[in-house]
Amino acid sequence: MPLNACELEVDLFCHGLRLPEDVPLTGARGVSRTRAGLGSGLEIAIPAPSLAKSEIWMNVPVVERFAQISPYHLSGGRARQYAIVDDRDDSRYEVRLPEEPPWYERLTSRDVPMHRVGVLQGTCLGIYVNPVCAFWSYSPRRNCQFCTTGANVGVSEQAVKTVDDVVETCWAAKQESGVTFVHLNGGFQGSRGLECIAPYVDAIKKDVGLLVGVQLSPEREFRRYDELVALGVDHFSFCIELLDPEWFARICPGKASAHGQALYFDAMRYCASLMPKGAVSGEIIAGIEPMANTLRAIDEIAAIGAFPTVCIFRPTIGSDMEDWPAPEYAEMRHVMRHMYEACKRHWLPIGAAPNIEVSLVVNPDDAVLLAERDAGYYWYEAYRWLARVAGAPAFRHRMRAA
Ligand code: SF4
Repeated sequence: MPLNACELEVDLFCHGLRLPEDVPLTGARGVSRTRAGLGSGLEIAIPAPSLAKSEIWMNVPVVERFAQISPYHLSGGRARQYAIVDDRDDSRYEVRLPEEPPWYERLTSRDVPMHRVGVLQGTCLGIYVNPVCAFWSYSPRRNCQFCTTGANVGVSEQAVKTVDDVVETCWAAKQESGVTFVHLNGGFQGSRGLECIAPYVDAIKKDVGLLVGVQLSPEREFRRYDELVALGVDHFSFCIELLDPEWFARICPGKASAHGQALYFDAMRYCASLMPKGAVSGEIIAGIEPMANTLRAIDEIAAIGAFPTVCIFRPTIGSDMEDWPAPEYAEMRHVMRHMYEACKRHWLPIGAAPNIEVSLVVNPDDAVLLAERDAGYYWYEAYRWLARVAGAPAFRHRMRAA
């Protein structure tokens, strides 16, 4: 039986996609090995006419070893018409390959190509703002095992991005690609990460007018979060990654020794108390530790009033985990359905902000396609619709430059 759009998204994250040489990718967004390396796949949009949104965006793995033996391959390409074919049963799914925007090749006033400052990940702009995460310079290295930031920042992307570089790139992305949300991250910077990011937030809010998300290591001085909220930050996310302390210490040795896992939850709880419901998220990786832990992490995050963002583990080339197996579809489908159910249980207004489709994860509202159609489902979907409509003026206001 053919998969629905979310099931296809999940299966593609688990299996990847083969790209036959005779299928032209002219004009498509190039594979971009930036930030932690999770965007190292092909950006696609899967039609999803039954959702509040019309498409599901994803960054499908194409270069990793598991993707080379995927049952899926890309076909077509004439007149930019593409389909994904499942060789197991010849199912065929029409997809769109979003075009690379002209501003990628444009230079900032400091002569830096804009694609070396920020890249589109789905409909959002992702910018790694700070210097290389400090866990990469420890001896021995203390980086998270799935991450390739240390190999990307300064190589495939600019090592130093000035506030002007960032503002100019944000402007181009807003005006020409209709971007509404920029996601700023920066790895571990000791106790100075939040301080360092403040001038970028200030300039983007005042000069560009975008929704701004910040994803940095948690810091113990919580007043720094108040300062960023005062500057206009719209979203904080905390990369918890793994719930079990032993798995956390094994896969994220730097985070475990520098912060300890409890600080991630404490900072997330604090920010959730400062901001509107749904403005904070906790990010976890599914497919590394046993699934029961992932389900529990989802429940704990949602109970705080934050929404869970669940990343399906990708054994990214060049990472310490590149030889690990990709996760199983059946488990990941179960996890994503659980994610939606947890959001529903806690009345989290997922999908309320305009035009935020992150391609690196299964967005919580993508997983509506996995949900059981019971009475609770219809009540929650009505609530989400109301949150979108009622919240629109506030989001418009927050996207005005000063
Ligand atoms: S904290 Fe971990 S995931 Fe984040 S940049 Fe550093 S090594 Fe990578």
